[in-house]
Amino acid sequence: MTYTKLSIIVPCYNEEESVPLFYAEAIKQDAFFGSKGVELEFIFVNDGSRDKTVEVVKSLREKDERVHLISFSRNFGKEAAILAGFEKASGDLVVLMDADLQDPPALLPQMYTHIAEDGYDSVGSRRVTRSGEPPIRSWFARRFYGLMRKISTTEIVDGARDYRMMTRKVVDAILSMKEYNRFSKGIFGWVGFKTKWLEYENINRVAGETKWSFWKLFLYSLDGIMAFSTAPLAIPLVMGILFCIAAFALLVIIIVRACLSLTVGVLILPCIIAFVGGVILGCMGIVAMYLGKLYLESKDRPKYLIDEEF
Ligand code: UDP
Ligand code: MG
Repeated sequence: MTYTKLSIIVPCYNEEESVPLFYAEAIKQDAFFGSKGVELEFIFVNDGSRDKTVEVVKSLREKDERVHLISFSRNFGKEAAILAGFEKASGDLVVLMDADLQDPPALLPQMYTHIAEDGYDSVGSRRVTRSGEPPIRSWFARRFYGLMRKISTTEIVDGARDYRMMTRKVVDAILSMKEYNRFSKGIFGWVGFKTKWLEYENINRVAGETKWSFWKLFLYSLDGIMAFSTAPLAIPLVMGILFCIAAFALLVIIIVRACLSLTVGVLILPCIIAFVGGVILGCMGIVAMYLGKLYLESKDRPKYLIDEEF
């Protein structure tokens, strides 16, 4: 396949130092893409930065017409920046990259080759080490991916970064997911298509500092679980069943002891409490199951996505 334009989407939040370094590094790929007849387009999305990010992007634009800017009125979060970038991108190839050079532009030619020559629709990247990251954060990240593997039918790859090149087909599929609470790592997995994974060692950010506090990441992981799994809604139903089993076991003990003329008085109240609690939890569980269905309906995701048809 031949492609003519690559849109590079860069979400930026307080990245005045990183943006020029990023641009200088990315522009080195000009020669490669020029030789393939692929035009580049940079879309910097300023996510409500409080520093000079906008001025820095404007000064790049003065030198290079291919630089574009979307500037938000406040900080809406990286997911919103990603969506805005996808909506503006006009290329038949789109790549999503962080401004801090943790996503090495040197991988771009390789990504392009996998798509243009090997026929992949999307090339993702995952880091195989988490060096330079606080151990506690790595530990929680691994637990999160482990849990997601168990409770979600969508494949969410451990260590996957948002650094990903994709064809127009995949971009349109992503844009067809209109949900408000967006979790890109899940969305990329959900849309499917033929994906190639590139692995690389973790690289530390070139300037500035991470925008993700531990708390922000924790909330983001909850978003991820809630957006791609309704398994937690089954908890009341399961607990209700366990309580009812406990009530039944107590009832059996009461009957056996009564037959043997032993005292049963102290067991009656716990038995009733377990039974009533179990029934209430079970009913809540039933409501939760319907709520889960309603939740999925309200997202109004496409029922299927077509890769090819004759
Ligand atoms: N980012 C953003 N909005 C935010 C937080 C981050 O647009 O609210 C951008 C940030 O400027 C960077 C990318 O998202 O280009 C990844 O952020 P960061 O490097 O801080 O995350 P980390 O690599 O530490 O996970
Ligand atoms: Mg980073």
